[in-house]
Amino acid sequence: MGMGLDGPVDLCDAGGPLSTPVQESLNWNTPQRKESTMSRKIHIFDTTLRDGEQVPGAKLNRRQKLEIAEQLARLGVDVIEAGFPCSSPEDLKAVQTVAEQVKGPVIAGLARAVQQDIDIAWEAVKKAERPRIHVFLGSSDIHLQKKLRRDRESALHQAVEAVKYAKKYCEDVEYSTEDASRSDFDYLCRVIEACIQAGATVINVPDTVGYALPEQYGELIRNLREKVPALDKVILSVHCHNDLGLAVANSLAAVRNGAEQVECTINGVGERAGNASLEEIVMAIRTRESFFDAHTTLNTKEIYRTSRMVSRLMNIPVQPNKAIVGSNAFAHSSGIHQDGILKDRSTYEIIRPEDVGIKAHSLVLTARSGRAALRHRLEELGYELTDEQFQKVHKRFLNVADRKKEISSQDLATIVEIELTKVSETYTFDSLQTMSGNTMQPLASVTLIKDDEKITDAATGNGPVNAVFNCIERIVGESGELRDYDLKAVTTGKDALGEAMVRVEIRGAIYSGIGTSPDVIEASARAYVNAFNRFFANGNG
Ligand SMILES: [Zn+2]
Repeated sequence: MGMGLDGPVDLCDAGGPLSTPVQESLNWNTPQRKESTMSRKIHIFDTTLRDGEQVPGAKLNRRQKLEIAEQLARLGVDVIEAGFPCSSPEDLKAVQTVAEQVKGPVIAGLARAVQQDIDIAWEAVKKAERPRIHVFLGSSDIHLQKKLRRDRESALHQAVEAVKYAKKYCEDVEYSTEDASRSDFDYLCRVIEACIQAGATVINVPDTVGYALPEQYGELIRNLREKVPALDKVILSVHCHNDLGLAVANSLAAVRNGAEQVECTINGVGERAGNASLEEIVMAIRTRESFFDAHTTLNTKEIYRTSRMVSRLMNIPVQPNKAIVGSNAFAHSSGIHQDGILKDRSTYEIIRPEDVGIKAHSLVLTARSGRAALRHRLEELGYELTDEQFQKVHKRFLNVADRKKEISSQDLATIVEIELTKVSETYTFDSLQTMSGNTMQPLASVTLIKDDEKITDAATGNGPVNAVFNCIERIVGESGELRDYDLKAVTTGKDALGEAMVRVEIRGAIYSGIGTSPDVIEASARAYVNAFNRFFANGNG
């Protein structure tokens, strides 16, 4: 959970009509449970757009949030936490847009346990098909004494009043006992019981600081279920952070011990060491379904595409050895393993790459493939593009196909993502030349286009990429400090498409940029220009 609560809070009695009984407000969940008595359904609550977005430099604009939310709906998550509406007017608008336009999942907005936050959260989610207000307040003594400066009783009272207040607006109210894993057990039980009584439909027991250990956290969930019978009437949720690398393990231990909702993020992005990673939770439950006696209803074939999209829009690269979605997750390199895989995939593979949307042997496109073939392929991959979008993709496709013999599905996905997630371009990359070697000072010349006018400049640097960056800074008339530079092959083969991601500090703020090309220097140049375009798109310059 994110921000704290400052100063005293005055939450007056909600009054008004009585809240709806808990059972009724769960009508979307209860039939599911009755149907499948054999295996419990685990609800997947995605908080990529809220907890995930709190990563410095990963801020998303409204359009990007909508794009990710739409993809999360295709992935089939049960709940999308779209933001923390009171944190900024932009976030309020972004959550409103998601609530109005994304159909399928519950759309949740986060609020501290104060009236003003709850008012704004409701403003944000009220037009959703299925809105949820998610209220949180600290429950550990550390949080109560050091952060909130209040005693247990008054915090309990505030929690109850907040749930009642939210319940006046919204049937579906989630209550989070922040820092639950470090809270006094009996007090935690009392808070949970009182909040259910007040109308909460989901109770979340977060490991806010990533302190829990799997056995202990699983035991906490089991004990809560035993001590608070009212939990049977609501959904019991968990939310784990990865400070000790245990977010997924803790979440799974909780599922095993009776949790029914898991809060997680794509690629495990999130504050500090991140949140539990959605893809790992979902594929662990699916791969070991009989062990958990549980299932999710996600369309796992959308996992890979979602992962790529989040990585690209947040400019957070995925480590190659990342489980499920890393570029090496399904690469078998040892001879013995390869031999086994060729004889029977089950020898060394527990998940088929196709199951998470990685197509291994797909048809390849070349520069000679026509527009119809390209369109057909895009549709096969699930992209429905407008004519205008298709034109852009086609143009970039020809450009890449000129230099790369075969265009794979992954190449194509990358091209589409780049073309459709552009910021408005103040400067467009046109061309570059570099000269370098171990006996000369590297020299580069770059041409960018601004308002249909070509601008060329030349510069030296301590390497060809550095020389290109210096050229770009001269052309745009701003200097940047490179904070992070990541280069990787996003596709396989000698002529793979290279993807460069940069984080550049410009006038004290960090801007991310991304660029793709079969030529790594060009990919780097495009990424650098992209970062400056974000700077200009932010109203600078
Ligand atoms: Zn969190």
